[in-house]
Amino acid sequence: MLDRLRRRWRGELAKRAARFPARLALDRPTLSLTFDDFHVTAAETGAAVLEAAGVRGSFYVNGGTIGGMGELGPSGDEARLRAVHAAGHEIGCHSFSHADLFRLDAAGIGAEMDRNAQWLAARLGARPVSFAYPYGRTPLRAKRAAMAGYRAARGVQPGLNAGEIDLAYIRAAPLESARRDRELLARMIAEAAERRAWLVLYTHDVQPAPGPYGVTPDDLDWVLRAALAAGCAVRPLGEVVAGP
Ligand SMILES: [Zn+2]
Repeated sequence: MLDRLRRRWRGELAKRAARFPARLALDRPTLSLTFDDFHVTAAETGAAVLEAAGVRGSFYVNGGTIGGMGELGPSGDEARLRAVHAAGHEIGCHSFSHADLFRLDAAGIGAEMDRNAQWLAARLGARPVSFAYPYGRTPLRAKRAAMAGYRAARGVQPGLNAGEIDLAYIRAAPLESARRDRELLARMIAEAAERRAWLVLYTHDVQPAPGPYGVTPDDLDWVLRAALAAGCAVRPLGEVVAGP
């Protein structure tokens, strides 16, 4: 109980404090599809589903688990990482070791972010421009650290991004086949289209029988085609915050 209260309080704090406000001006309603942890099935099937529809997504990578076991299963390897990057997807930073940032001080958080950015830059020739908080855990010192090195940072607080947004806490809703039905996703897309807003979804593995935090290839394909049919642009997160 206390734990739940504490978590909720931290969530409220992350939303309201250490804000980095920016005005979001979009030509069109927009969907960003984001994949955390570079699960091998996201790196293979997920990327392929997006490419088949002519769109690209954002993959939040931990250098420390590439080619090994990630938080929720096996990660794609370095060759796959290069291939996904070369195909035009965004490779974002998710800390080096998938650290719980609440357990680290500001220097420790900065070190996790920098080590991962350098690891990625050494392999891809480019530093990541956006960050996703591991486990969605967002101490205020992590918001500040993220904005010292990235254009934007994504949390796991559902809701549309519209008007004045917090660059250090981009709202994102789960895309999880186990607990998100298409009706709800359709409503979110319709609202984004109506308000010319930015809908960000996050998921993990992409396979026919996904884990609790993953999505089926069919659901992934359905949501991105529903967004395109509603007139949305589908673009990587880091590209959206860079401007039209
Ligand atoms: Zn993660």
